[in-house]
Amino acid sequence: MDHLAEADRRHVLHPATSIGAHQEHGPDIIESGEGAWLIDGQGRRLFDAVGGLWCVQVGYGRPELADAMAASARRLGYYHTFGGASNPEQARLAERLAALAPKRLNRVFFGSGGSDANDTLVKIVWQYHALRGEPGRTKIIARKQAYHGTGVATASLTGLTSFHRQFNLPLPGFLHTTAPHYWRQGRPGEGEAAFVQRLVQDLEALIEAEGAESIGAFIAEPIMGAGGVIPPPEGYFPAIQRVLRRHGILMIADEVVTGYGRTGAWFASDHFDIQPDLMASAKGLTSGYFPMSAAFLSDAVFEVLREGDKTLGNFAHGYTYSGHPVGAATALANLDLIEREGLVDNAREVGAYLHSILAERLGDHPHVAEIRGLGLLAGVQLVQDKASRQAFSPEAKIAAKVAGAARRRGVIVRPLPSVDSLALSPPLIVTRADMDRVVEAIGGALGEVL
Ligand code: PLP
Repeated sequence: MDHLAEADRRHVLHPATSIGAHQEHGPDIIESGEGAWLIDGQGRRLFDAVGGLWCVQVGYGRPELADAMAASARRLGYYHTFGGASNPEQARLAERLAALAPKRLNRVFFGSGGSDANDTLVKIVWQYHALRGEPGRTKIIARKQAYHGTGVATASLTGLTSFHRQFNLPLPGFLHTTAPHYWRQGRPGEGEAAFVQRLVQDLEALIEAEGAESIGAFIAEPIMGAGGVIPPPEGYFPAIQRVLRRHGILMIADEVVTGYGRTGAWFASDHFDIQPDLMASAKGLTSGYFPMSAAFLSDAVFEVLREGDKTLGNFAHGYTYSGHPVGAATALANLDLIEREGLVDNAREVGAYLHSILAERLGDHPHVAEIRGLGLLAGVQLVQDKASRQAFSPEAKIAAKVAGAARRRGVIVRPLPSVDSLALSPPLIVTRADMDRVVEAIGGALGEVL
């Protein structure tokens, strides 16, 4: 192990990492990147079919982003945005985002990542209802298998039990309804429409049991990411939103993974007829080059907050790095590239090709049960027995083994161990030939492991 690897091993506590494995093997150092390729500490080239952590829309090593960051850092570098202070980059970005976001979402609050965007939205939900005379509406309904972040509140929104077990979470008042995964949750003989009806009934039953007057919002990823890349069944969101509207519950779309072109539209809410009152975004906003989030509010929610200002005083929430000029400059340059290079269209077109070759080349594999997703977001469901849907035992660590074998073939895919699935979320610049390479590596990995 060289000096830097040893320094890392001795001094860094890594996120979402086995401490024992890191201590034993040291870190996996990535030196540089170019396009969809990474170069590791041994000089090996790896094709990154995950785009970092589902975020590198424009690819690695883009000089356009580096130049925009450097120019902004040279001009100002930093100033806060508290008390109405601003900078040209923040104002320009807010105007541009309001034009891109689902209609009604014309106000934006900037932070540093997806977790703080969702945390901000939870507080806005509380404030909104309190100002409208319903301070009891504090509970938030999320879904099992959801991922909404890692803060104390946002890990509570998260519906993956692996993020709760070690920390005595979720906090009270964070509720979880059924995951909309037809393949896994559908009952024998139950059609997709009947499944959606059952999900609606589950939600109604939860609202009734808790009391609608105690519930502030419902939060959902348009397509679940870390929970398995799960698109909604047909008609799911319109049906759910009818229930929410009837009970005065706000709809939060968590577009942290699905935003900024990932699914072949600027935001996935547009695909599924989601009409969010609030929306979280991060990741692809800057392609990961700068930690930045944008939390959106509808005009109606904003008007309530504006009225509240008269009685409550300042909006008492904000981060040192809210509206960071270098972050906003990065985001603007990133949006320029996405637009100029037609990456939203590319995600739709190359994404459709990816889904077709996954189905064609892997769909008949005896241990591949389902291929899911939209655009350049895909999930591959592995299963022990296809007919009975018997899962592998957790000790088999199947998803991790297949991802390891793909990596030995030079392709990074993301294992989702709790759902025996592989996730793909490559940079939006990829070509059909790149996708051939990825699917070939997964096919080879499946052949080696299973
Ligand atoms: N929401 C979703 C849907 C995510 O996938 C993530 C991260 O993967 C987050 C929120 C949290 O974002 P961050 O890790 O930037 O805090």
